Amino acid sequence: MTTLENGSLEFKGKRALVTGGSRGIGAAVVRQLLDAGAEVLTTASSTASTPPEGATFVQADVRTKAGAETIAAAVREQLGGVDIVVHNAGGARPHEGSSAIPDEEWQDALDLNYLASVRLDSLLVPGMRERGEGAIVHISSAAVLTPEFSPFLHYVAAKAALESYSRGLAAELAPFGVRVNAVSPGRVTTPGGEATRERWAEVAARMGVPPELGAGATTPLGRDGRPDDIANAVLFLASGRASWLTGRNLIVDGGEFPMG
Ligand code: NDP
Repeated sequence: MTTLENGSLEFKGKRALVTGGSRGIGAAVVRQLLDAGAEVLTTASSTASTPPEGATFVQADVRTKAGAETIAAAVREQLGGVDIVVHNAGGARPHEGSSAIPDEEWQDALDLNYLASVRLDSLLVPGMRERGEGAIVHISSAAVLTPEFSPFLHYVAAKAALESYSRGLAAELAPFGVRVNAVSPGRVTTPGGEATRERWAEVAARMGVPPELGAGATTPLGRDGRPDDIANAVLFLASGRASWLTGRNLIVDGGEFPMG
């Protein structure tokens, strides 16, 4: 089932922006929104990207202010405004300890996993406030729950900043009818996730990361996540079913209970 209600067009008439929708979790969110009747604009940094059929695509690097401006202009020109914003583009390369992370990768992690949302929200929020409705979903990571021994502390710290920002923005926008929430995925099988975990496994072994915190640990529900598991949560938060829900972070991780 790819719609919240089998066969329903729950998002008909809604205009949605999903960053990083060319593969993985973002592509699942785009597909589910399209299936549920939304008009969807999505983005990626690579020109060779193939977003799901039916979505409008704009190429832009969300790490830059210019990229955010390109996306905001496309939202204005191609959608005529936006009702749902899903900040999904994100990721980082694992390293053997925080001091092994080059300065430019700390900056890159902040730009991609935190400031991209801040910059884009600042361009899109005024229109949403004016219309008096809308939903914003920030994709964080369950890795924020266990920064201990993390082989990508730059990523975890950037996502932690994103969660804090998301909650603050929710309070700011609640009086205007705009809801802001976060979703924190656990281990999900995606092209980006798999590439990260391959390197993570090597690095974590050298760092002596406890196996229960490592890339190979299993979840209580006995399998890794699928992109649609995360998209289901995103669509719920973006829908009218979550109309009394703002400033929250939904952890979708197969029941992976953090240590400590
Ligand atoms: P993927 O790497 O599989 O896909 C990432 C998407 O974002 C692609 O469409 C990619 O396209 C786009 N993207 C990457 N960098 C940029 C950029 N600079 N500007 C614009 N678009 C960009 O990632 P996942 O689906 O695995 O992850 C999606 C989100 O979920 C991320 O925020 C990630 O941190 C989070 N997450 C994922 C987990 C997992 O296990 N998979 C676990 C926890 C959180 P392109 O390369 O062409 O730019």
